[in-house]
Amino acid sequence: NSWWSHVQMGPPDPILGVTEAYKRDQNSNKINLGVGAYRDDNGKPFVLPSVIEAEDRMRKKNQDKEYAPISGPAEFCKHSITLALGEDNEHVKNSLNATVQGISGTGSLRIGGAFLQRFLPGKDLYLPTPSWGNHTPIFKDSGLNVKQYRYYDPATCGLNFNGALEDISKIPEKSIILLHACAHNPTGVDPKPEQWKELSKLIKDKKLFPFFDMAYQGFASGDVAKDAFAVRLFVNEGHQIALAQSYAKNMGLYGERAGAFSLVTSSKQEADTVMSQLKILVRPMYSNPPVHGARIVSEILGDASLKSMWLKDVKGMADRIISMRTQLRDGLKKEGSSRNWAHITDQIGMFCYTGMNAQQVERITKEFSIYLTKDGRISMAGVTSKNVGYLAKAMHEVTK
Ligand code: PMP
Repeated sequence: NSWWSHVQMGPPDPILGVTEAYKRDQNSNKINLGVGAYRDDNGKPFVLPSVIEAEDRMRKKNQDKEYAPISGPAEFCKHSITLALGEDNEHVKNSLNATVQGISGTGSLRIGGAFLQRFLPGKDLYLPTPSWGNHTPIFKDSGLNVKQYRYYDPATCGLNFNGALEDISKIPEKSIILLHACAHNPTGVDPKPEQWKELSKLIKDKKLFPFFDMAYQGFASGDVAKDAFAVRLFVNEGHQIALAQSYAKNMGLYGERAGAFSLVTSSKQEADTVMSQLKILVRPMYSNPPVHGARIVSEILGDASLKSMWLKDVKGMADRIISMRTQLRDGLKKEGSSRNWAHITDQIGMFCYTGMNAQQVERITKEFSIYLTKDGRISMAGVTSKNVGYLAKAMHEVTK
């Protein structure tokens, strides 16, 4: 007779399940392509040299462990919005933003979901199909109605731009539309600059509210400005965007939980009122955010030499992933695959939507000990110069 006898077992997390199965496998050639965390060319987790340097400098400062403000350290928030919108952005210069530190990207999206639920008239949020698996629960738990617009085209392993335009043009006014700023997860498919311009115009004409999830700034192309193209375009075209940022990928701060949530406002006074309400939301959830990761970010972005060191680190990670895409595509050709694998190099960021179906995924796991999610998504970060040949052979074998 327990209080909890009515609680039913929930389903396991699909991605963590992949890692569990991988760990149990005894095959020495096994590869884990399920995890969404960067690995170096030896398959090892990577702590950025700029982060190590920042922590060395921090240690010498003998910082205390006092609470951060509810909204996180002000300098962290300032650095974050500046990184997103650019050094000379008029909105940043005129303080037309309310920015709070969030518990990495997830927590920032969750604060955003809660704020929009509380203060926007529309409660419907539209996600691209497919989207990051956590988006639906994050926004449902925020009390929003989650709906969808077409995005990915399985026939081309690319963008279904016409389908997206058609669906978006039918979304009722004042709804929220979620956009992946760059390196769309899980597909790796991003709109081109001209397509972003069209999307910006349509979203404005239809009076929709754009919420950008930017979890991979710099990590996609290796260039933080290029990866922020869509966010900057929308802001410069007068959209009052919401923005969730994460430092998990681009600084490798996964477990530090450093991220930011921002709203662009029409005046400084409005930024202040919005900020007061963001704090009222955060306080009962977790009082204030963790300090260590935010300090690393401020240390790096606040120092010109450390920042340029970091920009090299980010580019190094992006370049390794891009080179693995080329090697995988070349490897498939060398194996004699007659399929069109152009999407492997057309897609960008951590993930590649290979186009392998559920049966092929099952085979590649069973016969080759290569682990990935059922949707055929592989994490390019798990591909190395040592295993790319084996991966190409296996992919060819199950898709021929
Ligand atoms: N958004 C997207 C699209 C992501 O892929 C991720 C990480 N997998 C996140 C947000 C948030 O991650 P984190 O909470 O670790 O910053």
